[in-house]
Amino acid sequence: MDRDAYRERLAATTDDPADLFEHFEERSVAGRTHHVLTAARHGVERGTVVVEDADVVVRGYPSIPRILVLEPGIESFFAGTETVVVEEKLDGFNVRIAAVGGEPLAFTRSGYVCPYTTARARALLDLEPFFERHPETVLCAELIGPETPYTTTDYAGVDSHDVRVFDVRDGESGEPMPVADRRALCRAFDFGQPRCFGRAAPSEAVEIAAAAIADLDAAGREGVVLKSADGESMVKYTTASQHREELAYAFSLPFECGRDFVFSRIVREAFRAAEFAESDDRLRERAHGLGEAILLPMVATIRAVAADEPIGQRHTVRGDPDALEALFDHLREQSLTIEIEADRREDGDRVVAFRKVADSSRDRIRHYLDGGTRDE
Ligand code: ATP
Repeated sequence: MDRDAYRERLAATTDDPADLFEHFEERSVAGRTHHVLTAARHGVERGTVVVEDADVVVRGYPSIPRILVLEPGIESFFAGTETVVVEEKLDGFNVRIAAVGGEPLAFTRSGYVCPYTTARARALLDLEPFFERHPETVLCAELIGPETPYTTTDYAGVDSHDVRVFDVRDGESGEPMPVADRRALCRAFDFGQPRCFGRAAPSEAVEIAAAAIADLDAAGREGVVLKSADGESMVKYTTASQHREELAYAFSLPFECGRDFVFSRIVREAFRAAEFAESDDRLRERAHGLGEAILLPMVATIRAVAADEPIGQRHTVRGDPDALEALFDHLREQSLTIEIEADRREDGDRVVAFRKVADSSRDRIRHYLDGGTRDE
């Protein structure tokens, strides 16, 4: 591979191709070598994929900064920006869909081709005409719904899973399409998209975002992403219910998520409470909710281990039998222990309920339950 040419095409902030490419990993996918960047380096995003044989570059999806207060967070982040668009932030998993050698593939955030998501994206979106017209673009989307291999959040009207396109970018430069153009393009191709709450100057967007967050919180939904009209700048802000849900998840598998994961959710909630808890009673309610999210799932998990019940996140997936088989191979290749709990056919689809066994949490809880000591 001409590493120098790709270093230049990726606009990496190093002159030495070896410096960049030492962080790339080679993976073989459908007879082609994918060069995948495993961590953000030299201005190139994690999950960036170079497929030289097909002359395709799929840049990683950029990390979206977060504000902890709406006021003055929005105005200071978007200082000098004329118009800001407030979109819903959906809780699923990020997938980039790109045409590689004429075939659409779905890449996870870390640059793996997920066979299941690829099959579902091909079934749910009319990709052929899209990539015929826009071969060099990447559809950045969230796979949402209760039946996915990575997340399980319910959305009204989504019984199994669905795709929502939230960004359209140039594969090589990562340049986003302006928000209004992207929304029109998605409408033209009938691609589902996240809700748009409005567009306004940054000072007025505060009110739009605050109202949206109140509604989303009440509905148990995740939050918002605010974007400059050109799509270049983005910032996110999340609801209290999302913070609690993520804490509940982390404490249900207490030794899988790092301490940073847990601490960051508490910090988010503290700032949200400081800005929005209107009264002492309301603050107490929040504190109560937060405490429940921490203690109840963890106690349930300890009791499950004590009763020798399995622990680990449960998922259901539905689709083509071969795609599901490829998914389980893919998950096992990621060193996950998968336990199949139910496997049936429904209307020609294979439907599998499985658990990602949380070995580390189970073993440590068992150790403490047996009277083992804990070094702190
Ligand atoms: P980071 O943004 O630092 O990568 P992360 O991987 O933990 O953090 P999140 O905190 O979940 O990601 O937030 C960013 C993700 O939100 C995006 O990568 C995307 O998958 C998802 N997302 C959902 N809805 C939208 C939307 N409307 N616009 C942009 N991203 C969205």
